[in-house]
Amino acid sequence: MASHIVGYPRMGPKRELKFALESFWDGKSSADDLQKVASNLRSSIWKQMSEAGIKYIPSNTFSYYDQVLDTTAMLGAVPARYGWNGGEIGFDTFFSMARGNATLPAMEMTKWFDTNYHFIVPELGPDTSFSYSSHKAVSEYKEAKELGIDTVPVLVGPVSYLLLSKPAKGVEKSFSPLSLLENVLPVYKEVISELKAAGATWIQFDEPTLIKDLDSEQLDAFTKAYAGLESSCAGLNVLIETYFADVTPEVFKTLTSLKGVTAYGFDLNRGAKTLDLIKSDFPADKYLFAGIVDGRNIWANNLASSMTTLSSLESIVGKDKLVVSTSCSLLHTAVDLINETKLDSEIKSWLAFASQKIVEVNALAKALAGQKDEAFFSANAAAQASRKSSPRVNNPEVQQAASALRGSDHRRSTDVSSRLDAQQKKLNLPILPTTTIGSFPQTVELRRTRREYKAKKISEEAYISAMKEEISKVVKLQEELDIDVLVHGEPERNDMVEYFGEQLSGFAFSANGWVQSYGSRCVKPPIIYGDVSRPKAMTVFWSSMAQSMTARPMKGMLTGPVTILNWSFVRDDQPRFETCYQIALSIKKEVEDLEAAGINVIQIDEAALREGCPLRKSEVAFYLEWAVHSFRITNCGVKDTTQIHTHMCYSNFNDIIHSIINMDADVITIENSRSDEKLLSVFREGVKYGAGIGPGVYDIHSPRIPTTEEIADRINKMLAVLETNILWVNPDCGLKTRKYSEVKPALTNVVAAAKKLRTEL
Ligand code: GLN
Ligand code: ZN
Repeated sequence: MASHIVGYPRMGPKRELKFALESFWDGKSSADDLQKVASNLRSSIWKQMSEAGIKYIPSNTFSYYDQVLDTTAMLGAVPARYGWNGGEIGFDTFFSMARGNATLPAMEMTKWFDTNYHFIVPELGPDTSFSYSSHKAVSEYKEAKELGIDTVPVLVGPVSYLLLSKPAKGVEKSFSPLSLLENVLPVYKEVISELKAAGATWIQFDEPTLIKDLDSEQLDAFTKAYAGLESSCAGLNVLIETYFADVTPEVFKTLTSLKGVTAYGFDLNRGAKTLDLIKSDFPADKYLFAGIVDGRNIWANNLASSMTTLSSLESIVGKDKLVVSTSCSLLHTAVDLINETKLDSEIKSWLAFASQKIVEVNALAKALAGQKDEAFFSANAAAQASRKSSPRVNNPEVQQAASALRGSDHRRSTDVSSRLDAQQKKLNLPILPTTTIGSFPQTVELRRTRREYKAKKISEEAYISAMKEEISKVVKLQEELDIDVLVHGEPERNDMVEYFGEQLSGFAFSANGWVQSYGSRCVKPPIIYGDVSRPKAMTVFWSSMAQSMTARPMKGMLTGPVTILNWSFVRDDQPRFETCYQIALSIKKEVEDLEAAGINVIQIDEAALREGCPLRKSEVAFYLEWAVHSFRITNCGVKDTTQIHTHMCYSNFNDIIHSIINMDADVITIENSRSDEKLLSVFREGVKYGAGIGPGVYDIHSPRIPTTEEIADRINKMLAVLETNILWVNPDCGLKTRKYSEVKPALTNVVAAAKKLRTEL
């Protein structure tokens, strides 16, 4: 029985690649130094898999930035503005596309399906010419071979590549990159024949777009592409890898009829329906790469239950055609549990990071082949049992409260207009009220103070007084600027999810559980392992302290349940909505405590609501239902006079505007800096609803300081669509990453613009 890994994290167990990249970008080390770190990482990964006994080991899943950008380089599809003149693409051109350079911005980056990984979006047009310009796949194959390891080279498949591309600047929006299929295939053929010449016997094409709802033209493209590659692939075993969801029956049919393909990889973690298709219709004589070990999460596999699934698959596809695999690339999980020396040992026994997942895949394959590692399996069974029954996981009271929420509705009893009236009587705000999104600049000293407090190097007293001083500075500044609704600046928070996770029960934190987000950027998601509850108030102390410093309204600042859920590693032993409801109940308590403490405006951020949308259309409505319900649960119990704000970090609302309205917030602040018109046309529809709306008036992601005129102009454009009495004036996100030297003049101009317009209205 064989084993396979779809792909592996690149950063290294201690983010070695991150540091090597950043040092190279800063000019502190040479290209040679960077390449050395990279090749050491690659070889240690290959050796690890080989020593573990994995049969099909991937190569070319390493990247200095992103595998889609690697494909752009392979195809020589460099946008003209980067001034590349042909030849093998080097670091200069590659990193200019990835990160921009002194004169040019980077190419656009967007989320890789529903993960937190971001890829660089290819820009294509009818005139794009393709030529084989990066030999990376071949050289990595050879590099592994020199170490004595025969690998499966992995390429982003041609159809997914094109479907993930966008029309280049200046090209008609209606241009379909898919029309370039015939043009990219020749390059793929060159790569394939070089790989064959180098000795490759397998090749893996990642075609994750196969899990989407595809139309017949898109499906045809797959048929054409692989028919086109068939003769070049002769003599090679071709694996098409799908992941992140199940595939529809139509896709399954097309996929399993592709010419020249010998093997199919499916995500069996998110693809329960695919399992049924396989059982009823898997073609004879093809390999099934069964993605049974979850690449998206950090839980140890339930080996016994995987064995049941695998055994049933074995009887369908045959012993020699079943390959045990991961559900997707391990890129989306943490790297190695071995470095987690501080994690509680019981919780640790429930986890498996990439390195441990390799061992699991191999153990399953061996067991199927009749060489079961009894000790490993029984340790796994014991860990599964302890996870199931542990009192740290189970809190019956929370379970009951959360399940009681299902099926019923929770919303405030009065409508938004009457609530806004009641709030205005209390708050007495001018028209076009000004506010900010929450955080103020996080200085080096602030971070140091937090770190020292955490490490118990400074006393609680000293910590509180340092924070108090900072909050008072931020409050004074906002009063001087004459902002209407103030914030405390969030100096006590490292991260908007971690801060809450650390205070809630049911959360654990790793020391090195980093996952690549984009380029050298990594995030360390909290691990939700148990029923979530709130032992005590989390923010009331700071918010009341801040409110006591000013007569103006002070916003209480919370992260919403959906965002906490979507930015964490979530338990896999209950549905996501169950966990979300539990978090919602904790946030609800916090909201009510803030209200009782005299905080009249409370913002509940849902920065990540949209990104949790499932990939398959048929599942979106259900998700939005419980996600929006969870948000409403947090604040359905407050008085009419308490104003609930929410904030979202995107402006791509078109398809979810009704869900956003259904959140029933009093005021919605949203990122807007890059797409005024689109957003406003959407809100034209939503405007009837009557809630306050604060589309960001300037982009906080850029150090540029917007002028008063420019801000006024933007507000005027908004006023043309939105009614005066519902418009708020605010930046488009928190100011955490900016400097005071940018924030002060920018906010000065924001307030000046609002005041100017107030006199004109
Ligand atoms: N309140 C948070 C802040 O200002 C919101 C951040 C976010 O939307 N990503 O930092
Ligand atoms: Zn934001």
